[in-house]
Amino acid sequence: MIQSVLIANRGEIACRIMRTAKRLGIRTIAVYSDADRDSPHVIQADHAISIGPAEVTASYLNSDAILNAAKQTGAESIHPGYGFLSENSEFAAACQARGITFIGPSSEAIELMGNKRAAKLAVEAAQVPCVPGYAGIEREGSNPDERQKQREDDAFIDAAATIGFPLLIKATAGGGGRGMRIVDAIDAMPGALQSARSEALNAFGSDELILEKYIESPRHIEIQIFADQQGNTIHLGERDCSIQRRHQKVIEESPSPALSSEQRDHMGAAAVAAAKACHYVGAGTVEFITDPEGNFYFLEMNTRLQVEHPVTEWVTGVDLVEWQFKVANAEPLPLKQGEVTQRGHAIEARLYAEDVQQQFLPQTGTIKGVNLPDLPHCRIDHAVAPELTVSPYYDPMLGKWIAWGEDRASALQTLITLLSQTTICGVTHNRAFLLKLLKHEQFQQGHVSTHFIDQHSDTLLQAGEIEPLYLMATATFLSQPAYPPYPRREAGTFQRSSALKREILLTLSHNGQRYPLRGQWIDHNRLQWCTEAQQERFITQAIDFDATRSTLTLSVNGVTHKIAIAQSGHTLFIDTEQGHLILEDLTYPTHSILNGDLESEADSGSVTAPMDGKIVAIYIEAGQRVAQGDTLMVIEAMKMEHPVKARQDGLVSRIDVEAHQQATRNQLLATIDGA
Ligand code: ADP
Ligand code: ADP
Ligand code: MG
Repeated sequence: MIQSVLIANRGEIACRIMRTAKRLGIRTIAVYSDADRDSPHVIQADHAISIGPAEVTASYLNSDAILNAAKQTGAESIHPGYGFLSENSEFAAACQARGITFIGPSSEAIELMGNKRAAKLAVEAAQVPCVPGYAGIEREGSNPDERQKQREDDAFIDAAATIGFPLLIKATAGGGGRGMRIVDAIDAMPGALQSARSEALNAFGSDELILEKYIESPRHIEIQIFADQQGNTIHLGERDCSIQRRHQKVIEESPSPALSSEQRDHMGAAAVAAAKACHYVGAGTVEFITDPEGNFYFLEMNTRLQVEHPVTEWVTGVDLVEWQFKVANAEPLPLKQGEVTQRGHAIEARLYAEDVQQQFLPQTGTIKGVNLPDLPHCRIDHAVAPELTVSPYYDPMLGKWIAWGEDRASALQTLITLLSQTTICGVTHNRAFLLKLLKHEQFQQGHVSTHFIDQHSDTLLQAGEIEPLYLMATATFLSQPAYPPYPRREAGTFQRSSALKREILLTLSHNGQRYPLRGQWIDHNRLQWCTEAQQERFITQAIDFDATRSTLTLSVNGVTHKIAIAQSGHTLFIDTEQGHLILEDLTYPTHSILNGDLESEADSGSVTAPMDGKIVAIYIEAGQRVAQGDTLMVIEAMKMEHPVKARQDGLVSRIDVEAHQQATRNQLLATIDGA
């Protein structure tokens, strides 16, 4: 029996695996990078051991460091979680070679399924329907010369003409929604092949590609499978993961609102056949794409625990991590196929640190205030904590908010309640966006495809001007002498006690817009505010501030509100159902000088880094003419690539970075001289 487990991961999944391990009496060992010293997974583990610097290649992807940590702590087994080394066949083999149990399938199964080309060929042989396409010709060596590449490209272009358009170019080693190109016409093939190859090589270390027919208006439906060492393979029903952005899942649910029980049986049988085709052992997911006619096609198999596994756990009543330990202990599966039941409906929403309004750009920052409600039929798998830094090194997912109900409508309503009562201040996240999605009528009716977010972007992504309530909350918060202790306040710039009659002048800014406010104490509790134009008047009173929940209770014109608000220096964070708002207190002019954002707003010829990250491509040269909207560079952070675009027409007068250089947020990358 396994007595100890090292979890080669971080964040919510490390915490989730530990929860089951502890319940089973298994000693838990966390590993952490320099950036994660004080993270929840480190605090929750029985033992924790450092594995290196923040960069993933030096720590969480560093097999040697992890294997050394296992040796040093006497770990009998390693659970890889998802991402990182979970689908690395060499790592699984290295564990085995050292007598450490890898909680997952065999190295051979990982290798086979990790290659989209090999996987499709293997499952096709087992009669599993695959997306029509072209798997390419097998390469003779790992380093093809230019002529061989040209031959491959020609074969791809010929195959494309047969498959028809639109089609999808995929990296065989791809994952996480990356390395895909939609191609609409044959003329675009050569360019698309070239750029897909270079992205694939850069991101996955292999430029091997496949082609697939692009299924229009599809749903993504996947089957959870489980196999033991005795040769039993079963499935635990499906998850519908059609709500995606950038081909990455945002909302997942089980059962799928689009599947009949007959279709479920078919798809389940196909998934079991796919798993058997690679002699699979352990937990795995077979992903399918379905077309509006109800046909389904194999996409890929993920040979690990999936991010969205909790929805399956909830409807089937199975703890999938417990089963992983059982199978690793060579126990048979606790249930036979006929004994698997699905009860009720579960929905999960992924909370990401990202700016929905800026093409879902990942966000970094320090969490200042957290309020996680404890409600019946709800589960939050997270690793957030006050003062935790969301760094640019790792995936921006903060956790998963999950709800269960007897039926879909009640599960949905419970999840909406759970998310409405959650607040996290300090780093911009997608909570408000998730709420809009869950409340969307079409989604509520279950009428969605993988394009849902794009199709409804006008309603889902619209951002209005900040509501006066939040300006009033900020102004009231800043006017309380007890919080926040600005240095300037101590210097006595204004003191309420000595100068009740004195005016408070504040300048707040949000999204580059300035909001000058004039306040006057009416008595010791109440303030009267007017906007600079004197058009609106508000009477506010701070009633209470709950520091542990970062919640300000205030009244505005006689109505009481609870506002999640937190502060860091001159920056204030408010988490609302309108979005996570970041306001700057610009009352003193020095702040605007310190604030890089405003400077860059003012000068659209300065091209600055939108975030911390690595410059992976530079498309411009000094002296080149560019037009507004042109992509100038690509910056990569948190495993995602983001275009840096020109904000004006002009001539590139200088470039301040080189490819592969690390850049910090707001760093000047290039300068464009206007016409
Ligand atoms: P899952 O398939 O488990 O639902 P995803 O499809 O979102 O998870 O991501 C696949 C794997 O890639 C996960 O293990 C996740 O940790 C990792 N991942 C998530 N986001 C990215 C990304 N932007 N780029 C590369 N890998 C990612
Ligand atoms: P990854 O390994 O990055 O998860 P997948 O092959 O699983 O790649 O595809 C991820 C997502 O991309 C799918 O969930 C779906 O939204 C979209 N997709 C993949 N293949 C197709 C296709 N042939 N037609 C339409 N959409 C597709
Ligand atoms: Mg996938």
